[in-house]
Amino acid sequence: MTERASNPSASFAGKVAIVTGAGSGIGKAAALDLGHQGAKVGVLSRNAADVQATVDQIVEAGGEAIPLIADVTSQQALEEAVATVERTWGRLDSLVVNAGANGQFAPVDDLTLEEWNRTLDTNLTSTFLTTRAAVPLMRKTGGAIVVISSVNGNRNFAYAGAVAYSTSKAAQVAFTKMVALELAKDRIRVNVVCPGAIDTPINGKTMRRNTESIGVKVHFPDGVHMYDGEPGTADQVAELISFLLSDAADHVSGTEVYIDAAESLLVG
Ligand code: NAD
Repeated sequence: MTERASNPSASFAGKVAIVTGAGSGIGKAAALDLGHQGAKVGVLSRNAADVQATVDQIVEAGGEAIPLIADVTSQQALEEAVATVERTWGRLDSLVVNAGANGQFAPVDDLTLEEWNRTLDTNLTSTFLTTRAAVPLMRKTGGAIVVISSVNGNRNFAYAGAVAYSTSKAAQVAFTKMVALELAKDRIRVNVVCPGAIDTPINGKTMRRNTESIGVKVHFPDGVHMYDGEPGTADQVAELISFLLSDAADHVSGTEVYIDAAESLLVG
């Protein structure tokens, strides 16, 4: 994230946000962008050092942030994090449900139940638990939620062995649409962002087993690359997240937004 001074006169002045998985990658970029635009940010993740680094960056730029150390698979930890935000700032306007992992990639008859459950817990059950914990406080003011899904499982099925990951990412879109309708009367908008390849640490953590045998080789036709094969940046995704959370998007709810320079239209 480019160094910038905080700008409290911007569109999130007086607003409070929680961003999960905010210790690195897209979540960190989103937390910094919201902080820059004047939001008070609850920086949530499970790695205390990473969380503190994000908090420090927001505070050094003149913004306000607090660390929330929580595992997003723990209902109790998430409820405690929201309670801390309520004690500190008394409200919650914006929620970014971002924490996630690629998990284990493997052939479907090789993937263990434990590996399947871990990926679904980390990406999908966490989406339910985070939303569940935040909604009672968000109802007081209204607000907006952005869930981070993926092109995988929605437009693109080309990652060999990503059956658990893609299933979790597809289900996040259905979850978003159900909850967007349910919470409309509470003036809480809910949208889902589906990024393509974004330059973050996530791919270095992917675990692959025996996926060579199940891959299908894809050849890009010449001359149609719109993005020269370069991944997007976390900052680009953060700007989309901030737009969807802002009042500029006040008629946008219940929809997925792809951010992949049209890549998934070709390889999906
Ligand atoms: P990342 O690894 O940099 O960030 C993920 C963050 O989530 C990390 O800070 C990690 O500590 C945290 N996290 C993971 N499990 C957690 C748990 N149980 N409790 C609390 N925190 C936990 O990766 P990223 O690329 O920034 O990924 C963010 C989101 O974007 C994920 O949901 C991912 O599926 C999605 N996404 C990423 C890409 C990409 O190419 N980078 C593409 C599509 C979707």
